[in-house]
Amino acid sequence: MEFKGKTVIVTGAGKGIGREIARMLIERGAHVVALTRSVADVEALRGESGCRAIQVDLADADATREAAIAALPADFLVNCAGTTELQPFLETTVEAFDRLVAVNTRAPMIVGQEYARSLIKDGRHGAIVNVSSVASFIGIPDHAAYCASKGGLDGLTRVMAKELAPRGIRANGVHPTVTMTPMAVKAWSDPEKAAGMMKRIPVGRFAEPADIAEIVLFLLSDEAAMVNGISMPVDGGYMIA
Ligand code: NDP
Repeated sequence: MEFKGKTVIVTGAGKGIGREIARMLIERGAHVVALTRSVADVEALRGESGCRAIQVDLADADATREAAIAALPADFLVNCAGTTELQPFLETTVEAFDRLVAVNTRAPMIVGQEYARSLIKDGRHGAIVNVSSVASFIGIPDHAAYCASKGGLDGLTRVMAKELAPRGIRANGVHPTVTMTPMAVKAWSDPEKAAGMMKRIPVGRFAEPADIAEIVLFLLSDEAAMVNGISMPVDGGYMIA
C-alpha cells in the first residue's frame, strides 16, 4: 500500500498503536499530521521528517475542533487516541465515565466532522478508520466506562459509513485485542489477568502495534474500496474462542 503524496491525520500518534500507524504511513510516503497530548511526544514527532504535530487535549471539545481544523486539508483520518481508567461497574464515577467518552467517542466525532466537511467542500474522496477495541463487543470486568465509550464509537462508525460513503468517504472500525503499548501496561500488568486473557487468544500471543497498523493502512487504502462500515477484529481469534 502506497500513500505517496497523501496527508493523513492520526490522533494519538504520540505513543503505542498511533505512533506505529504514523511511522508506517511515513515509511510508505504519507505526510502525517499528528494530534496528541504530551509535549514530549509532540516535540519528538516534530523532529521527524514527514510529520507535523499539533498539541491538543482531546477531552476538550473546543480545543479538539480547533486542532482538527488546523490539521486540514487531509486525505485520510485515523481516530486512534484513546484512554482508559480501571473501575468496577459499581464504583465507576461520573467523572471517569465522562472523561473516557470525551476522548474515546466525542473526539472522533468532532475530528471526523471537520475532516469530512473539508473533503465534501473540496469535492474530494477519503476514508476514516476509528480504532475501537474488542471491549466494544464483550464485557470486560473493570472496564465499564471504556466498553461503553468504544460501543458508542462503533455506533458512530456505522452512521459515518452510511451518511458519508455516498459522498465518497468510507468509514470502518478496527478492534484490537490486548496490544503491547503503554495502555496495555496500565490495563493488563496483573499477570493472572493477562494469563486469563492470553488463554482465550488462539494464536497464543498479544498483538504488537504493527499488527494493528497494517490493518488500519489496508482499510484506508483503495484496496479496501468496497469495505465500508465494518468492525474488524484484530485479535488472533479472541472473538471466536
Ligand atoms: P497508548 O496509551 O499507548 O497511546 C494512546 C495515545 O493517545 C497517546 O499518544 C496519548 O497521548 C493519546 N491520547 C490519549 N488521551 C488523549 C487526550 N486526551 N488528548 C490527546 N491525546 C490523547 O494507547 P494504545 O496505543 O494502546 O491505544 C491506541 C488505541 O487503541 C486506543 O483508542 C485504545 O483504546 C485502542 N486499543 C488499545 C488496546 C491495547 O491493548 N493497547 C486494545 C484495544 C484497543 P498521551 O499519552 O500524551 O495522553
